Amino acid sequence: MTSHTLNELIAEGVRGRYILVRSDLNVPLDGSTVTDDGRIKASLPVISKLSDAGARVLVTAHLGRPKGNPDPKYSLKPAADRLAELAPFKVSLAEDTVGESAKSQAAALADGDVLVLENVRFDARETSKDQAERGAFADELVALTGSNGAYVDDAFGAVHRKHASVYDVANRLPSYQGDLVHTEVEVLQKLTKEPQRPYVVVLGGSKVSDKLAVINNLIGKADTILVGGGMLFTFLAAAGHKVASSLLEEDQITVVQEYLKRAADAGTQFVIPTDVVVASRFAADADHQTVSADAIEESSFGTSGIGLDIGPDSAATFAGHIKAAKTVFWNGPMGVFEFPAFAAGTRAVAQALTETEAFTVVGGGDSAAAVRTLGFDDGQFGHISTGGGASLEYLEGKELPGLSVLDR
Ligand code: ADP
Ligand code: MG
Repeated sequence: MTSHTLNELIAEGVRGRYILVRSDLNVPLDGSTVTDDGRIKASLPVISKLSDAGARVLVTAHLGRPKGNPDPKYSLKPAADRLAELAPFKVSLAEDTVGESAKSQAAALADGDVLVLENVRFDARETSKDQAERGAFADELVALTGSNGAYVDDAFGAVHRKHASVYDVANRLPSYQGDLVHTEVEVLQKLTKEPQRPYVVVLGGSKVSDKLAVINNLIGKADTILVGGGMLFTFLAAAGHKVASSLLEEDQITVVQEYLKRAADAGTQFVIPTDVVVASRFAADADHQTVSADAIEESSFGTSGIGLDIGPDSAATFAGHIKAAKTVFWNGPMGVFEFPAFAAGTRAVAQALTETEAFTVVGGGDSAAAVRTLGFDDGQFGHISTGGGASLEYLEGKELPGLSVLDR
């Protein structure tokens, strides 16, 4: 698998050429205010490199999940405005994606200027399952680049999507990996090829069946899998314990039992919490107590108790495994960290990640948000992945259309 890189494109020369860049500008908004500009800042270096080298840069990106029609609520304007504030180059925003505004503004660009095309998901063809529909849309995006264009994919968070701006344009233009995509692929290769051992994987969060698919591929590869978050209750149930009203995917219990059996033969150790913080209800101010993981229904909340965090003994055990590791991949908070009373497990795992000598990777949108909310700094981790779903699918061993299309 080799792909051409942004540096190769710049070495070829981009002055005066139209370069279509797929960026990840999918930032959280409060009305029209960007509440976390992390993805804009992360996208800036690639756009800057191209602008500095004299390219006329067309940025395409999505924001939220509009229904295939222009919807002012999902306009890229707040993101483009923030980009313009951060950037030393000229940034404008087209009122449409491939329409008259995009065409005339693209034609008016000077070398080094940047034009952000309006939300690519304002056009239903972007995400169409029909290859011809997507292709027609890709043709219109490509037409904006004239006769000597090129494509740079810098949106790692979208590489698992077979979308027009991710996949089909790359089939139509000379294509290159942006720096973000390049770094992500290097890191994920490190995890999947020859990770330094012990290789410890910490999994939590709420999307249980998604995470179970990753576990399937990690059995035999990871030395230890620490199980927290909502998923732990399916593991406890698989071991025959009652979990009261905690998150439980009953239809996955047999899957988990099969994993536990297979792991024992494959040399992968599962570590399941021994204590759990149980709450009276799902609320920030709920009554709560720590109980043994095999006695959840014996808390004072009986069968209505909900497990919302791993307990302190489990957190200490997890931290010990993390500190003894050489490679750690973490996806999914250990508990409902959004409520301070149930954030201790997640904080303990994050803290251990900052203290271990291991190469540490944090994947997943909420996990990355958790480390920031809890006051940790990005620089304290080896790598924080920008694409949760994409990194998980990579670890699952799936082929990612947006990456394979860049191979040659
Ligand atoms: P990521 O985005 O990092 O992949 P997920 O989206 O799978 O993670 O899950 C994140 C969510 O999981 C958080 O909002 C957190 O509140 C929730 N969560 C963690 N533990 C529990 C639990 N025990 N019960 C319910 N929700 C949980
Ligand atoms: Mg999430």
